[in-house]
Amino acid sequence: MTLRPLRDNLEIRDHELLKPYTTFKIGGPARHFALIKSPDDLSEAIEFAKAEREHILVLGGGSNVLISDGGFNGLVVHPVHQGITLVREDADTVTLRINAAESWDNVVEHAVAHGWWGIENLSHIPGQAGAALVQNIGAYGQQIGDVLECAEVMDLRTGEVRTLGIEDCQLAYRKSVFNTSARGRFFILGLTLKLSKLERPNLQYTDVRAYFDSREIGRPTQLDIRKAIVAIRDRKFPFPREEKGGNAGSFFKNLVLTQAEYDRLEANFRKNFSPNELARLREFRNRFQAGNGIKIPTAFLMEACGLKGCRAGRAEVNETQPLVLLNQGGATAADVMGLVKRIRQTIYERTGMVISIEPELIGFRPAEMEDHLALQ
Ligand SMILES: Cc1cc2nc3c(=O)[nH]c(=O)nc-3n(C[C@H](O)[C@H](O)[C@H](O)COP(=O)(O)OP(=O)(O)OC[C@H]3O[C@@H](n4cnc5c(N)ncnc54)[C@H](O)[C@@H]3O)c2cc1C
Repeated sequence: MTLRPLRDNLEIRDHELLKPYTTFKIGGPARHFALIKSPDDLSEAIEFAKAEREHILVLGGGSNVLISDGGFNGLVVHPVHQGITLVREDADTVTLRINAAESWDNVVEHAVAHGWWGIENLSHIPGQAGAALVQNIGAYGQQIGDVLECAEVMDLRTGEVRTLGIEDCQLAYRKSVFNTSARGRFFILGLTLKLSKLERPNLQYTDVRAYFDSREIGRPTQLDIRKAIVAIRDRKFPFPREEKGGNAGSFFKNLVLTQAEYDRLEANFRKNFSPNELARLREFRNRFQAGNGIKIPTAFLMEACGLKGCRAGRAEVNETQPLVLLNQGGATAADVMGLVKRIRQTIYERTGMVISIEPELIGFRPAEMEDHLALQ
């Protein structure tokens, strides 16, 4: 690795290995790499990328990406500027400005410590605060979009700093302008969130209610709720701390089907699965009828197809939560994509459904992507 100081403070590193910057602990080198401590650093990085004619990739906590073994052939910018500032306060609300690199879970911990409501159910989600907006993180009945006031961003094409209001961010389920129409265009420098000082417990999720019922806690405090969410998540999701057990959370999205699509799925279940599994499918249909479609958990399809514990190289489908693909230690991106290919093909053959991938796939060549994602 070589270091090249630019005009001011910014160091550009050559061939920095990206694997340690991801929770999967997988990924080859970046051609160039820079730690971003301030907007000035970022402006310099943009100039550098222009001069070298390179693409820029923003890499936060690396918990929602799978980086190819070949790495990224461009400039990776990694935010390191942290900090939470109280900008406004009235009788009922507080407004916080949060720098991009602050750990999201620190933000939640800070809010809970002060009795500020609105994000306690988003406890224990890995990653940085800036990135949390990219897919409008959500869990247990809350999403960051519910408390967002605005985001400060730098346009990576022009270097212009702008404030995007909630409308501009175009937030929807796991979506925003940052991962759809303006994917890769903006670096989120910071977020402004408005939280409530008034008690607002959100206990609508079955798991959360069951947690308190079983402990006979009738009126949980905010700290109780945070502890419950952490305990529930730890039971369900292997939290990635080391290489062995490294993962990117849910690797596949759940299906949201129209009635016609559901009918096709049910016909395939009648043909290819036991009456017991057909009954379970119908249960899901009845339980998860949302306004925008019928939600079928992909974990159920994986389980029904016998994919729990399935392996390719050093990558494995998690036994308890099959949506999570695990690095058993030493897994490569090729191992993971080999496993993904097998899972998608099996589900397609037996159920007729095409399942999509949640994390961003980075640095794969078009031919590689075609091969990994083709279905026969
Ligand atoms: C165990 C586990 C559990 C998870 N649970 C949940 C969950 O319950 N709900 C949920 O919604 N997600 C969940 N996730 C997914 C993930 O944690 C979130 O998407 C998180 O917000 C990603 O943050 P990150 O910093 O790791 O982003 P990265 O993985 O580094 O990046 C993700 C995307 O955001 C872009 N990006 C990163 N930082 C910036 C920035 N400052 N400006 C512009 N673009 C940026 C990247 O280019 C990339 O496209 C989980 C992941 C894991 C591993």
